[in-house]
Parts: sequence; structure tokens; C-alpha cells
Amino acid sequence: MIGWVLKKILGTQNQREVRRLTPLVGEINRHEEALRALSFDELRGKTVAFRDRLAKGESLDQLLPEAFAVVKNCCRRFTEEKRRIRVRGQEILWEMIPFDVQLIGGMVLHSGRIAEMATGEGKTLVATLPTYLNALSGKGVHIVTVNDYLAARDADWMGEVYRELGLTVGCLQHGQTQSERRAQYACDITYGTSSEFGFDYLRDNGMATTPEDQVQRGHFYSIIDEVDSILIDEARTPLIISGPVTVSTHQFDKYKSIIEGLVRKQNTLCTDWANQAKERIEKGDLQGAGRLLYKVKLGSPRNKLLLKFQEDPGTRRAVDDAELEMYQDTRRTELYKTKEEMYFSIDERNSEADLSQMGRTFLNPNDPNFFSVPDLITTNHDIDSNAGLSAEEKLKAKAAAQADYEEASQRIHNISQLLRAYCVFEKDVHYVVQENKVVIVDEYTGRLMPGRRWSDGLHQAVEAREGVQIDRETQTLATITIQNYFRLYEKLAGMTGTAETEANEFKDIYRLGVVVIPTNRDCIRKDADDLIFKTRREKLNALIEEIKKRNAAGQPMLVGTASVESSEIISRMLRRENIPHSVLNAKQHQLEAEIVARAGERGAVMIATNMAGRGTDIKLSPGVAELGGLHVVGTERHESRRIDRQLRGRCARQGDPGSSQFFISFEDDLMRNFGDSRKIAGLMTKLGMEENEGLQHPWLNRSVETAQKRVEGRNYQVRKHTLQYDDVMNQQRTVIYAWRSDMLNSTDPRPEVFETVDERITSEVEARAGTDPVDLDGLVHWANSAMPVGLQKEDFQKAGGKEEWAKLLKAKVRDAYEVKVKFENPEAVKALERFVVLGAIDRLWQEHLYAMDGLRTSINLRAYGQKDPLIEYKNEAYGMFGELMARIKEEVVHNLFRSASSLSAFESFLSALPQRAGRGELPMQAQATEGSMSMQAEGGSTVVEEALAPMKRQGPKLGRNDPCPLDATKKFKNCCGATGSKGCLKVGG
Ligand code: ADP
Ligand code: MG
Repeated sequence: MIGWVLKKILGTQNQREVRRLTPLVGEINRHEEALRALSFDELRGKTVAFRDRLAKGESLDQLLPEAFAVVKNCCRRFTEEKRRIRVRGQEILWEMIPFDVQLIGGMVLHSGRIAEMATGEGKTLVATLPTYLNALSGKGVHIVTVNDYLAARDADWMGEVYRELGLTVGCLQHGQTQSERRAQYACDITYGTSSEFGFDYLRDNGMATTPEDQVQRGHFYSIIDEVDSILIDEARTPLIISGPVTVSTHQFDKYKSIIEGLVRKQNTLCTDWANQAKERIEKGDLQGAGRLLYKVKLGSPRNKLLLKFQEDPGTRRAVDDAELEMYQDTRRTELYKTKEEMYFSIDERNSEADLSQMGRTFLNPNDPNFFSVPDLITTNHDIDSNAGLSAEEKLKAKAAAQADYEEASQRIHNISQLLRAYCVFEKDVHYVVQENKVVIVDEYTGRLMPGRRWSDGLHQAVEAREGVQIDRETQTLATITIQNYFRLYEKLAGMTGTAETEANEFKDIYRLGVVVIPTNRDCIRKDADDLIFKTRREKLNALIEEIKKRNAAGQPMLVGTASVESSEIISRMLRRENIPHSVLNAKQHQLEAEIVARAGERGAVMIATNMAGRGTDIKLSPGVAELGGLHVVGTERHESRRIDRQLRGRCARQGDPGSSQFFISFEDDLMRNFGDSRKIAGLMTKLGMEENEGLQHPWLNRSVETAQKRVEGRNYQVRKHTLQYDDVMNQQRTVIYAWRSDMLNSTDPRPEVFETVDERITSEVEARAGTDPVDLDGLVHWANSAMPVGLQKEDFQKAGGKEEWAKLLKAKVRDAYEVKVKFENPEAVKALERFVVLGAIDRLWQEHLYAMDGLRTSINLRAYGQKDPLIEYKNEAYGMFGELMARIKEEVVHNLFRSASSLSAFESFLSALPQRAGRGELPMQAQATEGSMSMQAEGGSTVVEEALAPMKRQGPKLGRNDPCPLDATKKFKNCCGATGSKGCLKVGG
């Protein structure tokens, strides 16, 4: 009921929005009619005229109706002259003039929102309207596609319109050189994938050492195609540029064999319980069997017997009952007791592993406490109340206790990751082993993801399990999440066939509203209810029968799978039946696009994971409409409803006939882990399900959707969590990158450099003068060792108080510097000054990132100690950042004189910096974060709110006079941009 009311409200809100934009459609069309009388040259002249009007103060909004009309009219001319365009080597006849709904979609994109438009509605063309309009500003429009092939295709195809109208179009491709990239960004419009854009940003701001090294020129307006897939699916893995670390802390090899022993023990135990359960079932004691099997589930979730028993709805229900019972608050101690009856317990939903006392004793019979975290609070308390210790001894004792604690945490962390590697992750499902490497399989697409690694030691634990070379840990050189990259844009827009179910997340995180655009022609697709089977085997057999039947009639079919593995199983079964088919795995984008385009031909059978051939339109060939059009079969419900909708949406485009149905079973992962199988089993008994036969009922669909909503919720939490941590980093990155970019682009760096030097002097003088007695000797020593000022104690004494000391030092340091650079080439001196600051920032920032990586890990470990890890992380990060700023300034002062003695010495200093290794040579890799997520306790709701509060999109640049991102009441240069450990940084520390 509530859902219905909500839908009604949302529905009308959406309709109202569409209705609000409709009058503009009329206006655009009237302008377009008037344009028909012009010559093509006159039409092209419009671009120049628009730019003129913009320069005179007209707004883009004011130009919209005319600009959209120009694009539409250009399309009309192409259509009328039957223009053929070379797109990726093939000729395509242009035959499209934007429909009215496409004009509305274009307006929604221009307004900085998401346009939900079904597959086949022509979103590629829609994007040209706001792109042309916004590109008139000259600030560069970025269009983001899901892969390189689509970027190139759309730049070829839509580029025809832009070029015709006098705009330039660029396209980013993996492997382009720096100067090629700069040329693409210099264009009015640039197509590319999110990671190409994101990595360029990181290299520009974290690694470039001259303005010429930078390729991007700001973040004005971006349109993201398939926006859900970029901002939701891909957002779970941040972009990371990393290099190997020199030291390694893991102990996986050391614990591997002992963990194998432990896992064997546990398996024997669980199989015993499973056998006992079998006896109970035979005796009719279902409740007793349920309790036993629940224990098996806790101890060994992928136990073969357990999986088999769970095929029976009755037994399944008994297991669920047992579980439900255990999770009641009053039964918590019982749950705890149960976990103590096994060596360790596994929470498959959260993928966590926990040792019991029994497990600890097995691992180290002489000292079971070896594998438990020491109680630091009690220890510290004992130390404090020990009257026999001096203050210094107490400090020492506490430091030792802290070290013990960290060592034990590290050990337990290693063990816990190994247990996960052995019990939760399965070879050929979650990963494959190729050429002595563990390669992650993407859970959404089934794609192999070479180069990606699970974080937090999980990847190495899996490598240890598989007995392959354990790779060195890597260290982050630069990182940003996709979310934070796209928040850089002044205006962001997106388009997709499926945004509505995720509208909340778009609103919360990106401030992006969603407007559902009506289809050009009514959609007549028939979505049948799901067919539910008890086992996977039964499901697949029925599926093959269905394919046979429809194939015999000649109807084309698209069979969507959730993994490469199931694509291959189905392919094998079809081969046995001699049914010709093709299999796509989203590996070769161009080839697959060409194959998918033919999926609408008579008798075609296409098996595809959900990303395969995305962005390519499936048109029906003659005669197929009469057979019912394309039929889409899903072989499994995906983790989110959105992906199911995407799959269904591949048929019945532009008013075509088409139909869809999902085949599911109780053994599907979604149902095993998140399904309320008790309820479903109950329903099935009520509806009278027969052996070997699929069941179909709208009630069942709803139950499946409930399971999906649970997963969606969990995944949203994971993404939010990543973001909360990254927000801390994001603020620091903003400050550092702004400082860096200021230096990089300043034509006269000396005042900036001396501003930094002055700040350093002020803080040193403050510190020395703040002690009692005043530490004048220390100040004299510091001054002379840091700078060639040659000042005596008497000079200071003569000068007066601390204000005068600072003044004296500042004047002297300038004199000394003048002497130093008098005979050097002024341009070279400028470069040198820039490098002094950049070198200090880069070296120390990378060290800081490394320390932050470490902090992140140790904070995860601290979660064992029942503190809120996010709050801890924020506090420590603030403190560390203050130190970082102070250290950078110190280093600037030192290097200004130390290395500046000769320019050649400086050159060698520079070439030693890691970031000089050169663009493109740096390893680029995106690192998966899922591995680390489960180790963290969720923060309280206040923390969540607080973390989300500063998520307003930030402008791209942060000048010295802008408000500081950490404390908006101050100017950046007077805050952390200037005073290091002073100012706003104290607020958090
Ligand atoms: P989407 O991205 O929305 O799924 P595409 O941009 O791939 O859709 O376009 C689907 C097909 O529709 C393409 O073959 C394109 O040529 C065609 N198309 C788009 N707009 C029009 C139009 N206004 N008139 C005719 N055909 C169109
Ligand atoms: Mg598309």
C-alpha cells in the first residue's frame, strides 16, 4: 500500500517534470523549422553566432532552444542527403532526427540530472544536444562511456554532427601518450572511459612536474553514459596508481600449513554433524536436524552434504528456523556457545571468519592466548595503578603493551584472512589461477580482472592457499574514488535505462535527480513470472528445453548469465543438443558489439554475461517480429534488480515485440545467501510444487525481489563505507593538489616559496619562544643549520622580542638567497624554486599516503578492540596531516639552500624522485576494496550523517583565497594552506 502511494507520488512528480519541459519542445521545433530555409553554411555559422552571444552575456539556458534546433536540423540534413559515416571502419547510414522525447532527455541532461531512457531509445544521439550546447562555452565537455570501443565508436559516429557544426572532438584510448591525451582534452568535446579520465586527473595532480605535463584543462561538464554502471557498479573500486613496497609484513606462508590442518579438522567435525542430521531426519526429528545443519552452515558453509540437504524445502526451513532462533537477542549466549563447539565460524553473508577457543588451542596448544587480542585497557589500567613504577617505567611498559597488542592483531588478521581464503572463496568461482597468478573474477560480469587485487592481505592469503608466488604488497602513489572524481565537475549528468531503483543513492551521494523519460513508442514487452526450481540441475534442463522449443520455431533468443562459468555450462549443454549459438564474455568489446548486433536474426541463440555487448542495439530482422520478437531468458536473478532490468531491456526496443523470463533455483547464490527460503518454501508447499517441475507465481517474484533488496542494501552500505574513508583522504588531497597546482602554474614562484619559508620561520620562533626559559640557543642553532644566515645569539638579543627575531630571520634569509641566485639564469631559478616545493610535496605526500594505508589497516584491526574505526581514523588522519604540512615546509626551507647550490645538483635530486619515472611507465592498477570492507564494524548513524554532509560537489580549483575545505571560516592560505599544524587542523586533532 505504502509502496503504491509512493509510486503514485513519484510517478506524478516525474510526469510533472516532463510536462514542464514539453513547451520547450515546441519552441525547439519551431526554431528548427525556420532553420530549414538556411544553407548548410549558414547553419554552420550559427555556432560562431552562439559563441558571440555567450561572450556578450547570454546564458546557455537562453541559447538552449536554438542550439538544440541546430543539432536537430543538422541531423535532418544528414538524413535527407543519406549521409554515410565511417564508424570504426564500417559505413553507417545516418537516418535519425531526434524525436521529441529525445529533446526532453537532452534538456534533462543539460540540467545536470539523470535521464532514464530505455534501451534502444537512442541515448547516444540524445547526448549530442546538451553536448553541443555546453561545448559552446569552450570549457570542454567530457562524455564517459563504459569501454574504449564505445568511446571511439561514439566519437566517430556523433562526431560527424559536432565537426559539421564547427566543433572539435577528441577521444581517449588506453595507451595514448601524454601529448596525444593533451590533444584530446584540448578539443571542445572529449569521449573516454571513467578510468582514463580519473587516471589522467591523478597523474596531472599527483605526478606532473611542469604545466606541460598536465593534460586535462578543468572539469566543467560531464555526461556519463550507462551512469548506473559507472557510478554504482564501478564505484566500489577506487582508482589507484601504485608501486611496490620495500617491506612486507605478511606471515601467510608461515601459517598456511597449520591453517590447512585446522580447516581439515573443522571439515571432519561438520561432516559428522551432517551425518547425525541425516539420522535425525530419518527419525523424523526435523527440528534437531535443523539445529545440527545450522551448525554446519556456521562452520563450513560450502559443505557438500549441507548443500544437498538444503535442496529439500522442509529441511531448508528447519535450518532457517534454527538460525532465526539463534539470532534472537535472548539466545545470544547460546549462539556464542555454539560457535565455541567448532574451531572457527564463518559468516558467509559478511564474509568474516572468527576463531574459537578450541581453534586457538589447536593452533597453539601451549599458549592459546597467542591468537587472541590482549586487553589493552586493563593492562594500561594495571600499569597506571602499579605504585612501584616510575613515570618513565610506566610509559615504557605501556609502549611495550601497545606493541604486543599490534603484533597480536596482525597475527589474528593474517589467520582470519587465511580462513576466509580457504572457506569463503572458491577457485573458479571467485577467482581463477592463471600463469601462477590469482586472477579475480568480477562477480557482476564474470570478466577476469588481471592486475586487480583484493586488499587488506586477502589476495596474498588466497595466493598462499593456491601455493602460487605471493606478490609483494603495493603502496599507493595516488588514489581517488570514482565518486570523488566525478564530484569535481561543475555539472554532472547521466543517462541509462535503469536508474530508478537506485534513485536514492544518486540523490544522496551525487545530488543527481532522476527523471524517467517516456519511450518514443509504447513498450509492448511481455515479462513472464519467474520459473522457480528446487535444484540448479532441474533449472538448467528446463532452460535447455525452452531454448530448443523456441529455436525450432526460429525465434531469436538472448540468454543472460551471471558468470562466465554458467555461460560455459549452458554452452556445453547446447552443443550436446546441436543448437548453434554464440557465447560472449565482455572481453572483446568491438567483436562482441558486431556479434550482438546480429542477435535479432532468425534462429539466433546468444549466451552473454550481463556486460557483454552493452551499448549495442539489437535490431530485429524481417519476419522475426511475427515470431514474437527477441526473447530474453535470465538464468539467474542478479544481485540487484537493476541488472535484471537491464537484461530484460535488451528486447522490445522502439515498440518492437519481445518477451522475457527468469529461471531460478534454490541453489542460486542469491537464494542461498539472502533468500528468505523459509517463506518461499512455505509458499511452494502451499502452491503444490511437484518434483522436477518449475513453479511460477507472482508471490514468488516478490520473495526474490525481497532478497535482492537485501543485497542492494548491503552493497550500498559497502559503497558508502568506502566513501566515508575516502572523504577524509579527499579533503587532504584537495589541499595538497591545490597547493601543488598553484606552484606548478605560477609564473613567479618566489613569493610563494618565501611565504612558505616565512611560515616555517614564524612557527619555529613561536615554538622556541614559547618555552620557559626561552630557547634562544635552539633557535640560533636551527636557523644556522637550516639556512646560511650566519646569525649569532647576540644578533637576536640586540634585535628585541620574538616578533623582531622573526623579522630578522626573514630579512636575512632573503639576503642570503639573493646572493645565491644572483648569477644564475632567472628562468632556471624559477624552475628550481617550483621544484623545491613540488619535490617536497610529492616525496612527503607519498610517504603520507603510505602511512595512511597503514593507518587504514591498523584501524581495521582496532575494530577488534570495540572502538569506532571511522572516528579513530578521522582523528588520526587529521593529526598526521598537520604533521605532513609542517614537514613539507621544513623540507622546502632546507632544500632551498641545500640543493640550490648548483642547478645540476638539483637536476639529479629531481631525477631521483619516483614520480619522475615518467608518465605511462608507472604501473596503473585499480585495486578492489571488497576485501577490506568486511573487517570493519559499521559506524553509528551520526557518523554516517556527518560523513555525508560535506559531499556537496566541489569546484575543481582551490585558490589561495578560497575558503579552506577543512574550515570554511578561513581562507585556504591562512588556514592549512599556510600554517601547517596551526589553524583548522587543530579542530580535528
Ligand atoms: P540506447 O543507448 O538508448 O540503448 P542507442 O543510442 O544505441 O540506444 O540507439 C539505438 C538505435 O536507435 C540506434 O541504432 C540508432 O541509430 C537508433 N536511433 C536513435 N535515435 C533515433 C531517431 N531519432 N530516429 C531513428 N533512429 C534512431
Ligand atoms: Mg547506449
